[in-house]
Amino acid sequence: MTVYIMGAGPGDAKFLTLEAVDILKEAEVVLYDRLIDPSVLKLAGHAKLHYVGKTPGEPHDQGEINRLLIKYSRQYDKVVRLKGGDPFVFGRGGEEAEALLGAGVNYRLVAGLSSATAAAILSGVPLTYRNVSSFFTVTTASGMGGIDVDLRPLAALGGTLVILMGNAKKAQVAKNLFDSGLDPEANITVVSRASYADQVIKELRLSELADSSYLSPAILIVGPTNKHRVPNSSGKLHSKNILLTNTGDISLELKSSLTGLGANVFHIPLIEIINDENEIRGFIDELEKKPDWVVFTSKNAIKAVLNEIADIRIFSGIKIACVGKKTEKSLEEFKLTADLVAKVANADNLAELLKAYGIEKSRILIPASSSADPNFSLKLKNAGAKVIEQKVYYPRPVDLSESQMNVLKHADAILVYSQSGALSLFRYANNLKANCGLVAIGEITYNALLSNHFNNVMCAGSPEAGDLLKSLLDFFKND
Ligand code: SAH
Repeated sequence: MTVYIMGAGPGDAKFLTLEAVDILKEAEVVLYDRLIDPSVLKLAGHAKLHYVGKTPGEPHDQGEINRLLIKYSRQYDKVVRLKGGDPFVFGRGGEEAEALLGAGVNYRLVAGLSSATAAAILSGVPLTYRNVSSFFTVTTASGMGGIDVDLRPLAALGGTLVILMGNAKKAQVAKNLFDSGLDPEANITVVSRASYADQVIKELRLSELADSSYLSPAILIVGPTNKHRVPNSSGKLHSKNILLTNTGDISLELKSSLTGLGANVFHIPLIEIINDENEIRGFIDELEKKPDWVVFTSKNAIKAVLNEIADIRIFSGIKIACVGKKTEKSLEEFKLTADLVAKVANADNLAELLKAYGIEKSRILIPASSSADPNFSLKLKNAGAKVIEQKVYYPRPVDLSESQMNVLKHADAILVYSQSGALSLFRYANNLKANCGLVAIGEITYNALLSNHFNNVMCAGSPEAGDLLKSLLDFFKND
């Protein structure tokens, strides 16, 4: 019914508009181009994905794309035509809208953040600056069919010149700029792979441009505002790529602290949690027998069992303990309050706390991971408790996609959240930067990293955002 001609921004999904995210979630089919990042496509949930990008150098069959859009609009309610950056900046959005209008197809245009302006913000080169440059021109260096575009009249205008699609045309671009009177010593900023983990910002002199090399896609920013280039952030973690690897959602508290200090934050879970239905049923049976305690040692355990419980009153009369504040919080989401919470989130503290409470002859039910540390229940048993452990979930290592590998390879620090996460990461150990830091959220994870011979390993005081941040700042303090 409706075709959304939509901009995806320069790359990373964080640059999408809220409108685009809402539509993507509901999309039934998405036709996408070459430069669309998988992090964006992931938001399209269960939509059918149809790649219509060209390989560089091959002609784009626009007629075929228009026909496809019209065909899909008759089969589906919500069709997304997803384009890099903004659809109206070298995106043929206008042509596609005209074709749809002509065919009587309902469409809507959805703005995107153009790489032309994103590159400026990410590199810190202002596009305009009072008394220096009062306008900017956005152009391509490569015309229809790959022909050279004559940049001399544009360069002669002054102001800031933003050049797209110039990577294969560097010599030509350099000559044009030189011919238009630009000083060979003038600075030019190259923004390569803006917003990706392997983003590179280079400052060159015009005389160096023709022989320079950098990865596509890339943008050149030419003009006097280059003198006013500032870093994108002045924070202590400026331009550090920090990879969070937890399952589930990331902590917004941690993310905002990191981005506030200038870091680029990525999230790739290293493991996925698979629930064991039989064990969960076993847990519920045990719950009906009214143990004295239920002990939650992770958020995953809470999710695994509480999503299966029909009536929360099954917990009445049972005391609940949990391993830390985060676990307590996710318990509260299910309207349950813990009787006992370890202040520093680890199993040892929780065991001590339970012992101090007095658990002799108590029946303690623990929904655990298949890879749970046996020491915890042993300690409770030694204190005289009867422990019933149900292995309600198990972690499974996730295989990384090519774009995820790209993030991993360029990470400056990785936060590792569990022993199984450490094991999963081990499969990719050879791909990490030699100086990449690894922060374990607790001692068990820390020991798992050490025993797998990782370097630059740190142990955070606790999994809380403040402690993780502290470890990261410690690691980078000499940079
Ligand atoms: N509609 C897009 C532009 C499409 S033309 C937009 O508004 O951004 C493709 C060109 O855009 C590339 O050759 C490159 O010059 C630029 N580009 C797109 N994504 C980029 C990125 N992440 N980093 C640097 N340049 C990018």
